[in-house]
Amino acid sequence: MAVFAEEIVAWLEDAEQQVAEQFRVIDRIVDQNQWKVIEAFQRHQVSDYHFAGSTGYGYNDRGREVLDLVYADVFGAEAALVRPHFASGTHTIATALFGVLRPGDELLYISGTPYDTLHKVIGEPGDGTGSLQDFGIRYDEVALLENGEIDWDGVAAKLNERTKVIGIQRSRGYDWRDSFTIAQIGEMVRRVKEMQPGCIVFVDNCYGEFAEELEPTQVGVDLMAGSLIKNPGGGLAETGGYICGRADLVELASYRLTAPGIGGEVGAMLGTTRGIYQGLFLAPTTVGQAVKGSILAAAVLERAGFESRPRWNADRTDLIQAIAFSCPEQLIAFVQGIQRAAAVDGYVVPEAWEMPGYEHPVIMAAGTFIQGGSLELSADAPVREPYIAYMQGGLTYSHVKFGLLTALQTMKDRNLL
Ligand SMILES: *Cc1c(COP(=O)(O)O)cnc(C)c1O
Repeated sequence: MAVFAEEIVAWLEDAEQQVAEQFRVIDRIVDQNQWKVIEAFQRHQVSDYHFAGSTGYGYNDRGREVLDLVYADVFGAEAALVRPHFASGTHTIATALFGVLRPGDELLYISGTPYDTLHKVIGEPGDGTGSLQDFGIRYDEVALLENGEIDWDGVAAKLNERTKVIGIQRSRGYDWRDSFTIAQIGEMVRRVKEMQPGCIVFVDNCYGEFAEELEPTQVGVDLMAGSLIKNPGGGLAETGGYICGRADLVELASYRLTAPGIGGEVGAMLGTTRGIYQGLFLAPTTVGQAVKGSILAAAVLERAGFESRPRWNADRTDLIQAIAFSCPEQLIAFVQGIQRAAAVDGYVVPEAWEMPGYEHPVIMAAGTFIQGGSLELSADAPVREPYIAYMQGGLTYSHVKFGLLTALQTMKDRNLL
């Protein structure tokens, strides 16, 4: 480790000692989730013949059918739709929302403004893009309170007889707020159902899977969606997303993915099935590695003088570690430094660019086996004030450790520490 300044190595070693007790908590969660996944595989008698892919229409693809059952089981849901045909997390979430909302209905997000890529999905009335609002679905949101909690007075004021879906984003996304824990989400469901028993509670579960022992659908959430190139794909799923929850709602979403009347009964899996199964098997452990990496990042960056959110000793409910820098140079050096530890594309220097779906230039470190796979070590930041980098993932804890070393060293080399 001679290439790293002694001071940086010392920060890292001290930080590792400091977080040892936190790591034991993570180990327990990993064990719980690992067994939960194994039990689901066993209950549905998963065998190697399930891994064969289908072609054409993909009728009677038993591997695909059992995969849905296994996912539903793991997430404590009535049904699931797990498909490589979801192009991204955004596509998956959009499919769920378009599946259940109808013109005149209202979607009310109670966790503040949703993730950047969903803004265009929600769209504007008459924008001509086929967005939710273009189709006459109404949208409103309730900003979070100053302290990051749900504004229940605001929710009460905005709920109305048209409100069909309540949206909750579990993870912080690109916001400097805390992510919502499963306990908090359970409490939100309880309160929302008290106010409006018939409404559907939807959770954007991206980055949350396996970070805790329970999932949103195990505390009353009706419908949720996530990406297979994040947590539940375990780093092996090559593409795709999942929707799970109440069987009637999952079915409606399946009609939106393919076509009404067809739903989840067609859709060739091609060669993706084994990777999705094996990725799910690995996901609890891989998520544990990534969460440990995030905890270490919080501790070591705090030593280096930066504010981290969540802090190293906070309970975790997702992978994302936000770090606040004081100028764009620090932010860019950090992201470029993370890339220097990558096995794939480690020679590349990331630059900020106008990514489709994002409203500001974004700089991303992503030396990944799966393009954009953010269960793999990655760091991204919209280059805008306040200069916050969001790092997440790491298929191995050791990789994250080196990512932090190369990031801090890059900052030091540019006199930014
Ligand atoms: C990643 C993410 C999305 C969108 O997923 P993409 O695969 O980037 O389209 C949506 N919501 C949250 C909270 C996310 O983290």
